[in-house]
Amino acid sequence: MERTELERLRQNEETFARANEQIRNAAERLNVDPVPFLCECSATNCTDLIHLTLDAYRTVRKSNGFMIRPGHDDPHVETVVEDHGTYQVVEKFR
Ligand SMILES: [Zn+2]
Repeated sequence: MERTELERLRQNEETFARANEQIRNAAERLNVDPVPFLCECSATNCTDLIHLTLDAYRTVRKSNGFMIRPGHDDPHVETVVEDHGTYQVVEKFR
């Protein structure tokens, strides 16, 4: 896969991660918990939701990882480091 293509896949995940930060802020204001977050996989057409408690979400955000629905990992850009059943945490290759 070309480098530009890999960059694009990484950027997709970062875009979803930024959107999830806004969802977290809103959930904290509104006292919503667990929260429907967006799958942070690299597929542009993925609109799957992952229901996570705010605590679980914060744990993912503190790591270098991204949360995805099981099976949404792309072995070209990332590796699964945690499996929680309803979601997985992936770390991107540097
Ligand atoms: Zn996905």
